[in-house]
Amino acid sequence: MPDTPATTSVTDYEVLVVGAGFSGLYLLHRLRAEGHRVHVVEQAPEVGGTWYWNRYPGARCDVESVDYSYSWDNDLQQEWDWTEKYPAQGDILAYLKHVADRFDLRKDIDFDTTLTGAEWDESQGLWTATAADGRVYRARYLLMAVGCLSVPKDIDLPGFDNFEGRVLRTYDWPEGEHLTGQRVGVVGTGSTGAQVIPALAETVGDLTVVQRTPNFVIPTRNRPLHDGELEGIKADYPDRRVRNRTHAAGVFRNDNPKNAFEVDAEERRSTFQERWEGGGINFLGSFADLMFDQAANDAVAEFVHTKIDEIVDDPETAGSLKPKSYPLGAKRPVVATDYYETYNRDNVHLVDVKKRPLDTFTEKGFRLADGTEYELDTMVLATGFDAFTGPFTKMDIRGTEGRSLAETWNRDGAKTHLGLGTAGFPNMIIVASVGSPSVLANMVTAIEQHVEWISRLLDTMREEGYTTIEAQEPAQEAWVQTVEDVAAMTLWPNGDSGSWYRGANIDGKVQIFMPYAAGIVEYGNAIDKSAANNYEGFTLS
Ligand code: NAP
Repeated sequence: MPDTPATTSVTDYEVLVVGAGFSGLYLLHRLRAEGHRVHVVEQAPEVGGTWYWNRYPGARCDVESVDYSYSWDNDLQQEWDWTEKYPAQGDILAYLKHVADRFDLRKDIDFDTTLTGAEWDESQGLWTATAADGRVYRARYLLMAVGCLSVPKDIDLPGFDNFEGRVLRTYDWPEGEHLTGQRVGVVGTGSTGAQVIPALAETVGDLTVVQRTPNFVIPTRNRPLHDGELEGIKADYPDRRVRNRTHAAGVFRNDNPKNAFEVDAEERRSTFQERWEGGGINFLGSFADLMFDQAANDAVAEFVHTKIDEIVDDPETAGSLKPKSYPLGAKRPVVATDYYETYNRDNVHLVDVKKRPLDTFTEKGFRLADGTEYELDTMVLATGFDAFTGPFTKMDIRGTEGRSLAETWNRDGAKTHLGLGTAGFPNMIIVASVGSPSVLANMVTAIEQHVEWISRLLDTMREEGYTTIEAQEPAQEAWVQTVEDVAAMTLWPNGDSGSWYRGANIDGKVQIFMPYAAGIVEYGNAIDKSAANNYEGFTLS
């Protein structure tokens, strides 16, 4: 913990929430309504979390607008008008600002407040958290609503410091910047890269895409909501929300119950084709066994390969864009608009660094091992995140007997019981991140599930006179094994996906499968069962 300036005042709360994104806002609203003294700290100057920071051109969610929104207030869902099938970043941010105003949340949020550390005081049963500017907060509960993808991965590109041009990260893109007419390079072809590349291609002079591993990119097929469509959805909202909460993915998907090889080749092709035309993540519901059977996955991969051949004019570029070293879905599937089409533009060039290795970045751009030089005005980095653990390990969090969370997780991997607590850190509750469905579900549904469980927990503790809750080590080990075992039943761990799901995108990070892959229904059963059995796997005292 950094030293606290002598003049700093200490503010006491019952609950301190870190983060004012979807999780933090709902926690504040719900816990405050239930009479808890709750306060939120947020490092940004505004609400929104991920949707505040990721303002890059093309940023859009691949869950439908009407489902990527809170379900806990019927007036809110009736009065808010989404305009497109999939929401752009700006629309989601506008929605969250509206929620903050409508429920008068801002008065209990400290913006521009970055916590650098938090220490558990065992004798008093309180957390003391310190902000970068020296302010100190004391609270019984520390709720970590910090998001799964909120700390960018460190730059690990050879000689990158040599580059004297401008560097932009998609993660904290300057509002309204389109790099018009410039020579621009982009590193990264994940979900972010696949959105920013087509958008920038429209405005920049020349775009060079540096690709290490190609992704399977499914067309979004975004469109305006047509006349009467939103009204119909609003009328059906109560049932729609139930359907979302009772589907493993936290959003209803019309999944085909058949396996890929139960049907003949023609039905297989037409099913893929129909889902491809429909666009979006529904494509993954083409057959029931795509994530479980390698042959089924090979069939869907081959279908996407033929699409790439059909769309991309240059056969060599098409070849480079085809993922071949991991199953579709083992990396987070990418949904984007006009991604493959973009490579037919004269101002867009793909540099496949698996085929033509990158030697180094230079003052003016970068050089390949074969001596080819690229000169650029701006480099855009869409290189991903220190997923799940980043926001925890960048803070100095000290639990029982001064135990460091960063040291513990960096050494053993991020272990939790039920994704809610971690042994040695009493009263620190994790919201929709490691150990729970989080990113493998509609995040908003997963967040609501967690917030509602946490609110029941805090009510129970208050009513029954408990003041601390802590995950038990054996229960935690068992849960980590369950999370691994569930992942092992799927094709997720196969191939060289290097997925951030298990920390494999960061050199030296302990690899452990972090999201719980059995979905929110199974997960809800597990956490409700624990609660019903006096919070089994946790110690309440
Ligand atoms: P990501 O999926 O981790 O992709 C990072 C990209 O950068 C990969 O192509 C990676 O290549 C490349 N890269 C990293 N370091 C590199 C290096 N040193 N040299 C060359 N290439 C390098 O990160 P992301 O695209 O930001 O997406 C993260 C997650 O955010 C997504 O999976 C999704 O969950 C979420 N997201 C969702 C949406 C949406 O709703 N549509 C949009 C954006 C983001 P390798 O694969 O070879 O490592």
